[in-house]
Amino acid sequence: MTEDENQVELSVVIPLLNEQDNLRPLYEQLRQALDGKHRYEVLFVDDGSTDESFNILTEFHQADPRVRVIRFRRNFGQTPALSAGFAHARGSVVVALDADLQNDPADIPMLVSKLHEGYDVVSGWRKKRHDAALTRLVPSRMANWLISTITGVRLHDYGCTLKAYRREVLAETKLYGEMHRFIPALASWSGAHIAECVVNHRPRTAGVAKYGLGRTWKVVLDLITVKFLGSFSTKPIYIFGGLGGLTALFALLFGLLVISQKIARGVDMSGNPLLILTAVLLITTVQFILMGLLAELLVRTYHESQNRPTYVIREVLEAHDKNERTP
Ligand code: UDP
Ligand code: MG
Repeated sequence: MTEDENQVELSVVIPLLNEQDNLRPLYEQLRQALDGKHRYEVLFVDDGSTDESFNILTEFHQADPRVRVIRFRRNFGQTPALSAGFAHARGSVVVALDADLQNDPADIPMLVSKLHEGYDVVSGWRKKRHDAALTRLVPSRMANWLISTITGVRLHDYGCTLKAYRREVLAETKLYGEMHRFIPALASWSGAHIAECVVNHRPRTAGVAKYGLGRTWKVVLDLITVKFLGSFSTKPIYIFGGLGGLTALFALLFGLLVISQKIARGVDMSGNPLLILTAVLLITTVQFILMGLLAELLVRTYHESQNRPTYVIREVLEAHDKNERTP
């Protein structure tokens, strides 16, 4: 068994929810694309399907030792499904793709060879997308622009599930919410090299799309979280303190205005709404600073309880004794 484990070079991770009509053609296409080219395993993650999906997967599993199946107790979502797949993957390279046949398994060898050119993540770019224009393409355009601008990692298509990763890169990222799409950004912040490859995209022919417009807002919220964690997770008081500084500045400004109005024009201070604004801003300043201090405590608990360093080391060249001899 251990020998087997060592032999897997590529793990294909496929999250799925109610895709019974897509699974057989998908499996066929995977075999066509990978048989003879890679020593691979396929990890299907059944995210609480209520149709025949799991039975079909059981069939694959019985017939093919390279097929592994993880079945969730209920529907948890695509990101947790991917996470589970990543955690169980044994290959040194991990490729994720959708089960709905929109991604083309024939692209996998290309992504893997690109990865071997020296990248840590190779992201698929669905240059010609076949999805509904209004509910998917337009929000996705905006989301990609926003994510690229805010994370500073420029990709055309963050939402594409078809991506290839080195497994070490995945081991370091924990995924929450809709965050699987941010892996390239998170990895790049830890010093990973990212590349992009144009991949084939096909319209969905069976089953239903599981998402609508609602996802866009979730992605934006995740983006805020990711940016915050990426930039300030070791120094949260800088961002809270920064905001506090801003409110303090405005408090000073309005306070001075109240006083100058009193002196110059005899405006009654206690009846001046600007005085209330000044007071509110002062309270907000104190709140921001206190929130920053609380966050500093949380950060220490987070890093120190798990022995998580606040940096990522690529390699260490240790001191050694040139004449050292082993006894
Ligand atoms: N999926 C999943 N759990 C969910 C929703 C979706 O595992 O809760 C799977 C789904 O079966 C498909 C992939 O995630 O394999 C992408 O879903 P979909 O095609 O609906 O999304 P889109 O292609 O529009 O991003
Ligand atoms: Mg799809």
